[in-house]
Amino acid sequence: MTDRFAVLAQVEAFARRSLADLDGRHIAEQVSPDQLRQEIATVLDAAGVEPSEVVSHLIRSLDPGMVANTSGRFFGWVMGGSLPSALAADWLVSLWDQNAAIAATSPASAIVEEVVGEWLKELLGLDPSTSYAFTTGCQMSHATCLAAARNAVLAREGWNVELDGLCGAPRVRILTGSNVHASVGRSVRLLGFGSAAMEILQEGEDGTLSPSALEGALAGGDRPTIVVLQAGDLNIGAFDPLEELIPMAQAAGAWVHVDGAFGLWLRAGSARSHLTAGIDRADSIATDVHKWLNVPYDSGVAFVRHPEPHRASMRVTASYIGPREGVRDAIDWGPEWSRRARAIPLYAALRELGRDGVAELVDRTCDITREVAFGIAELPGAHLEREPLANQALIYFDGAAEATQAENDERTARVVELVNAGGEAYFTTTVYRGRRAMRLSVCNWRIDRGDIPRVIDAVRSALRTIAEQDHASER
Ligand SMILES: *Cc1c(COP(=O)(O)O)cnc(C)c1O
Repeated sequence: MTDRFAVLAQVEAFARRSLADLDGRHIAEQVSPDQLRQEIATVLDAAGVEPSEVVSHLIRSLDPGMVANTSGRFFGWVMGGSLPSALAADWLVSLWDQNAAIAATSPASAIVEEVVGEWLKELLGLDPSTSYAFTTGCQMSHATCLAAARNAVLAREGWNVELDGLCGAPRVRILTGSNVHASVGRSVRLLGFGSAAMEILQEGEDGTLSPSALEGALAGGDRPTIVVLQAGDLNIGAFDPLEELIPMAQAAGAWVHVDGAFGLWLRAGSARSHLTAGIDRADSIATDVHKWLNVPYDSGVAFVRHPEPHRASMRVTASYIGPREGVRDAIDWGPEWSRRARAIPLYAALRELGRDGVAELVDRTCDITREVAFGIAELPGAHLEREPLANQALIYFDGAAEATQAENDERTARVVELVNAGGEAYFTTTVYRGRRAMRLSVCNWRIDRGDIPRVIDAVRSALRTIAEQDHASER
């Protein structure tokens, strides 16, 4: 009889090759959607296939369609890689295949969650009484935190939203800055508030919500209010002035929720932790683990400084669950029922890095962001939106002095396309204040100073190609 689990050795061998080749690998995918379809959309046969054949086919046909975002020179969107222990721990999670819903179904996972929850509060300087949930990412952390907020702000009005829902409830206002991430808007929709409940306040020149703008909005109504603030926006890494805004909003009776998808990690002892000053007073905070902490997808954490509304909004009872005395049941704190033991890779990442390692990772990636951004900004026609505060930057590429904005936008898009086609680095673009910009987001543990000249050279060479093309078309 063949060993059906020989596939595991096959995957390990592939993993080792793949990781060894990562530094020299073309970062962008190398096949088109149609080629992928041809490879993958075979007829689903009536008869099954040997595991080793299934896995060889997956590796062969899918690997060329993968973006190598685990490379240190991948700067697209806001994405991390996987630390070695976190990747291995993630494999273990699949091996054990635990349902981390309750302590009874996974006693070990329940204890890991307790330990990691306490570690994180300490590492990030949060109130010891804060409750937490391990979610699939920042989006579901927003949904979790805002469910707690919904419970609390309506309870103050004498309304039990868990029992009576939102129909007939006092209408909740959600005040936020125009730098808000779209995942907040979707959480607001999922929770039944409706997008119209959001009052989007214009951010200032520096990309943050100003105290005067928030003060004016708070004074503009006495309905139950949730304020959503930003600790690190994905364009320029702007941090709202939390130290001023949070007490102001709370004094007006609002619940304050902060999006700290990546920005919260600055608090882990980094040289830039002052940017998050005051965040510990927030009523709730959402963050990601699969970005800056470099654990595999999908992983986020919701922190709520008021365990009662948090639990009230999520708690479930079912006669077959059977709680265990003295151990936390995760199902009472997060939105999922059956779920992966995703705190285990997080535990691994924290131990691999140690407290100093987390701070070093955050500081190194911020420093490299500056060096790469300043280096690119020195190239012909390039300029920075602003000096990077943390690990995000925007860069524009302008053509001749008489070029129109549309032409400059097109040029920026071409630079990014050419760099990505070269395979040495990978960027994405955005439209910021009406102009197309190249985004630089540095989250990956693999990047080191040696990568800086490679990245700048890749952009320089794209600009040279464009100059040659322009020159050829003029002749
Ligand atoms: C990535 C991101 C989110 C959404 O997080 P997911 O983990 O993708 O759900 C929210 N806010 C900010 C600022 C982000 O960068």
